[in-house]
Formats: sequence, C-alpha cells, structure tokens
Amino acid sequence: MTERLYYSDSYLTRFQACVLETSERGQRVVLDRTAFYPSSGGQPHDLGELNGIGVLDVVDEEDRIVHVLAAPLTGTSVEGVVAWDRRRDHMQQHSGQHLLSAVFDLLFQARTLSFHLGAESATIDLDTPILSPAQLQAAELHANHVIQQDLPLAVSFEDAAQAAGLRKESTREGTLRIVSIGELDRSACGGTHVRTTGEIGLVLLRKTEKIRNSTRVEFLCGQRAITRARADFDALSQIARQFSAPLDETPALVTTQLEQAKDAAKSRLKLAIELNTLRGRALYNQTPPDPAGRRRHVENRPQGPLDDELRTLAIAFCSQPNAVFLATSANPPSALLAVSPDSGLHAGNLMKQAIQTAGGKGGGSAQLAQGSLPVGDGHSMSIEKLFDI
Ligand SMILES: [Zn+2]
Repeated sequence: MTERLYYSDSYLTRFQACVLETSERGQRVVLDRTAFYPSSGGQPHDLGELNGIGVLDVVDEEDRIVHVLAAPLTGTSVEGVVAWDRRRDHMQQHSGQHLLSAVFDLLFQARTLSFHLGAESATIDLDTPILSPAQLQAAELHANHVIQQDLPLAVSFEDAAQAAGLRKESTREGTLRIVSIGELDRSACGGTHVRTTGEIGLVLLRKTEKIRNSTRVEFLCGQRAITRARADFDALSQIARQFSAPLDETPALVTTQLEQAKDAAKSRLKLAIELNTLRGRALYNQTPPDPAGRRRHVENRPQGPLDDELRTLAIAFCSQPNAVFLATSANPPSALLAVSPDSGLHAGNLMKQAIQTAGGKGGGSAQLAQGSLPVGDGHSMSIEKLFDI
C-alpha cells in the first residue's frame, strides 16, 4: 500500500520513503509513500528522481503506485524529488479545468464528459452539440473573473454516501477526495491542484471541435496561456510587418488581398484563353493544307495532362475551315481530338473507336473529344497511330 502524499499536499516535491518492493532488476519500484502523481483522471504522471535516478513513468495500480526508473535502484530507503515545473503546469491546467467545467455548467448547463491534459494544450468534452463564439467568450470572461477573485481551492475527504452537491455524481464508494473552488464547485478528484484560483493565472480558450453530439473545447492556463499569447503575437506581428500595417488592421487587409488574388487568377485564366485562341488561329495559318485542303496539327507530349489551355488551342484551331487537331500525352496515356464542323469527321465517334481498340475509355461531341488509356499497357507511345485522320 502506497500513501499518496500529493493527496494532502500538492506542493510537496521532496520526500523520504521506504522501498516496499522492486521488480524488473530494480527498475520498477513501489514505496510506502510517494509525492509522485501517477497518470490518472486525465492528468499525466510526474517526472523527477528517486535517489538521483530518473523517474520515467508513474503507474497507478489501485492500492500501490509503481515508479518506473531509468536505471536500477538499490537500497531500502529513498529520497524522492518531483520535477516542480511540470507538476506546477499540471496543477494550473487541472485546476483551470475544474474552474472551466464549473463555469460551463453554471452558464450554459453544459456538463463535462471528459478531460485530457496534453503536452501542448488541454481539452474538455462538453455534452452540448454547439457552443457559439459569444458563449465561449462569456465562459472565458467568467472563468478569468473567478481567477481574479482568488477563491480558495480546498481538499476534503468525505464519505461517498454523505457527499452532496457534487458537480458530477461519483460512482465510487467509501471515502471520496473532494476538491472545491470556493462556493462555486465541488468535484470528486484525485488530482493535484493549486491553493487559490489566482494561481491558475489565466484561462485562454482556443479552438472548438464538434465530436458527434458533444463539443471539444481546447484551453490553456497559466504559463501555457502566456507562452501561446506571445507566439500568437509574434506570428501576427510578422504578418502585419509584411503589410506595413498596424496589427489590428491585418484581418481586413488579408481579406482584401485574397479577393484581389482571386480576381487576378480569374483575369489570368481569361487572358490565357484569349491568348490560346489567337495562338490556335496563328497555328492554323502556319499549317500547310494537304492536297484535299485539310489542315492537320498533331502534337505528341511525353507527359503532362491535356489541360484547358490545350483544349482552347484545339478549339481555336478547329474554328477555321477543314481542320483537325490531335494531341496525345504518353503520361498519363490520353488523347484529345478536335475537328472543324465542315471536316466531315465526328470527333466523338473517332475517339471512341480508336481508344476502345486499345482498351481505354473516351468520347465526346462531334467537334471535341477526349479519351484515356490504361497505364503501362505499351500503347502509350503510339497513341497517335490509333487514329485514322
Ligand atoms: Zn479533477
């Protein structure tokens, strides 16, 4: 049985204890008492040292706590040291979570279903399908107001049958460890907490995500929130410098720039079509007619898709009398055929016939058709030969 020293003192980082049991060559150690918090209830385990040996993991095995060490431990007594920065961070996030859960419950009757404390941020899942930006802002404001009131967080031990007014019913029997925030909240919890809400520092709500019928809210407390706000400011300042504008004006500037970029892309496409129309006509004029007066242009590309620009070129070429335009690509194996209305040819039928012979798929209208062939069947280099034009 391991006595959990962190139950009564979250700030205890140095302690003496006796070794009850070791296994796996002294790298799994059970003590009679420990200040090390094991992973449980959404809060990750502590790190630190036992007699100078690194503690890699702390596992909760109900009535005992196992310390997983980086090297074997010898001897029967130990001095344990818990890494304070990590513990304090977890205390800020976990107490912040109780506060936020209480506030969401109070303001919007949104109950907390689960809590996860990650390395970068923490999340709670609330049993509501939607939370508006205004609701999030109200919850953040209220939680920070409670932080500024510096309410006490207290730990008490009560019999489960007698414990009343808990935010969430506990299914445990016997003695419950209850963490309360002033008159605001009472929750059964085994985690480590700060002494007053002031120590949470601040709560910053981040993104939300809908997960089935619940909403996941990401939040940061204390030092994490400050680090994040600093990173946000640096990123925004970088954007503002690019625009040579004050930070607060950048959202509107970004919107304007994006609209301008979209307009520019549209005009570019329009110009490309116009240019290809002119190029198609020029190409027609440069192509000598055969004895029957027909002008043929064949273009075999080693690779690349037969794109819109090429299609425009083909259409422009065939807008002139008695014209045929064939383009092929070896990769992906494909063909494009355009014919002028007076050519007496049907592009769709010709395409179907040619491509089907080679096991591909294709078709189109009388004037314009496209087809593709199976990859790597040996036809790709001789697609042109499939056509009798
Ligand atoms: Zn808790």
